[in-house]
Amino acid sequence: MRPEDVLALKDEPTCGQNQKSKSGCAQPKPGATQGGCCYDGARNALLPIADAAHIVHGPIGCAGSSWDNRGSRSSGSDLYRIGMTTDLSDMDVIMGRGEKRLYGAIRYIIERYKPAAVFVYVTCIPALQGDDVDSVAKTASERFGLPVIPIDCAGFYGNKNLGNRIAGDAMVRHVIGTREPDPLPASAAFDGTVHDVNLIGEWNVGGEFWNVAPLFDELGLRILCSFSGDSRFREVQTMHRARANMVVCSKAMIHVARKLHESFGAPYFEGSFYGVRDTSDAFRNFARLLGDPDLAARTEVLIAREEARTAAELAAIRPRVAGKRVLVFAGGYKSWSLVSAMQDLGVEVVATGTEKSTEEDKARIRDLMGTQARMIEDNDQRALITAFHDCRADVLVAGDRYIFPAMKSRLPFLDIDHVRRIGYAGYSGILELARNLDAVANSPVWARAQHRGLAARPAA
Ligand code: SF4
Repeated sequence: MRPEDVLALKDEPTCGQNQKSKSGCAQPKPGATQGGCCYDGARNALLPIADAAHIVHGPIGCAGSSWDNRGSRSSGSDLYRIGMTTDLSDMDVIMGRGEKRLYGAIRYIIERYKPAAVFVYVTCIPALQGDDVDSVAKTASERFGLPVIPIDCAGFYGNKNLGNRIAGDAMVRHVIGTREPDPLPASAAFDGTVHDVNLIGEWNVGGEFWNVAPLFDELGLRILCSFSGDSRFREVQTMHRARANMVVCSKAMIHVARKLHESFGAPYFEGSFYGVRDTSDAFRNFARLLGDPDLAARTEVLIAREEARTAAELAAIRPRVAGKRVLVFAGGYKSWSLVSAMQDLGVEVVATGTEKSTEEDKARIRDLMGTQARMIEDNDQRALITAFHDCRADVLVAGDRYIFPAMKSRLPFLDIDHVRRIGYAGYSGILELARNLDAVANSPVWARAQHRGLAARPAA
C-alpha cells in the first residue's frame, strides 16, 4: 500500500478524530492494555464474511494472536472459523519463499474448501521483505477462477482502527459493485414496496443481528448485506444497490458509507440497536431516509407494539436494577449506545469510558449524561478500579480484559466484550441485558466476598 493511501485512510473527513489538533488515536502507553495492530483490525472487520477463506500471510503468531477475538456468529457456512495461515518461518524469509508459499496455500484452500472467495491478509514480515501479494492474488484468481482479494494491512502501518478502514476500503475497491442483487422471489411474504438497505459495521456479536433482522423483514426492508456479521461474499458484492445505509459502528466503517453515498447516492445515518430508544430511532431513520410515508406509518405501528411488549416483559426486572449505579467502560460507539441502553432500564450511569471514542461519540455522551458527564480516557486497570470506587458504582460494565482486575477487587462485573456469546441488540436484547445486569448487581456473592474484611479494594 502506498504511503499516501495510508494517509488518506487516516484522514477520514466524517470522523471527529480529524478535528483534533493531533491524532486522536490512542498511542501505546507502557503499563496500559493495548488494542490490536492494523492487520488485527482488518481481519476482525472481514472475518465474519462466513463463506470466504481468510488466509493470514505471515508467521503463525500473527494468526494466533488475533484468532477468535470477536464472537461473530454465522447462520450457515462456518468456513470463517477455520484458521488459515502460510506460517512463514525464518528459512522462508531467508530463501525468499513467501510468494511461493502463498500461492500454494491459496491453491490448497480453494481445492480443499471451495470458498466463495479468498482474502489474503498481509502482515509485517511479507510486507518488509517485499512479497508481491497483489501479483500472486491476481495470478491465483485467474488460474482458479475465483476472487482472491489482497488486504494490505501490515501491523506496522498503524492501529486496529486503521486496519478496519483498510478492510472497508478493499471492499469498496475490489468487491462492492461486482454483482447485482437477486430479484425478489415471487413468493415474498411482504406485498408492499420493498426497500434495499445495508447495515455497515454490524458484527453479529452473540447473534445480535438476528434480534433485529425479523423486524426488517416485517417492514419490507431487505438487508442486502449486514457488513460483515453473518454475511456472505455475494452479499458484499451487492451493497452498492442499497437505497439507505445504517452505520452501526461509526468509527470503524463510516468511510464505506461515505463512499457508497458519493458513488451511488445512498444516504446513511449513524445509529445503534442497543436499548429501546435507539432501536426505535434506527427504524425511524430508515423510514425517513427512504421517504416512504407508508413505511413510516408501518414503522410507528411496529415500534408501538415492540415498545409495549418490551415494557411489559421488563416490568418484573426493572425495579431490581433501577437506581443501580453503573460504570460503563467501553470504547467507540458502545461508549454512548450502552449508556442509552442502561438509562432505558432506569440505571444511573456514573461514568463512561471514551478510550476509542470520537468527538461525535463524546457529544452523544453529553447529550445523554449532561455536560458534566465523567468520561474516562485512560484504560489503565488500576485507575479504572479507583474510578469505580470514586464514583461509588455498583457494577462495572466493561470488556473481558477487565474481568480479572474486577475479580481480584471483588467488584460486580458485567462482560460486554465483543467476544461474548450473548446478543444485547434490539428489543429482545435489552431484556437479555436487564436479566444479566440483575443477576450481577443482585448476586449474593458480593456480600460473601466482603465477609471478614475482604472488602473491595483496588487490584494489586
Ligand atoms: S504487529 Fe505485525 S507481526 Fe505483530 S501481529 Fe500485527 S502483523 Fe503480526
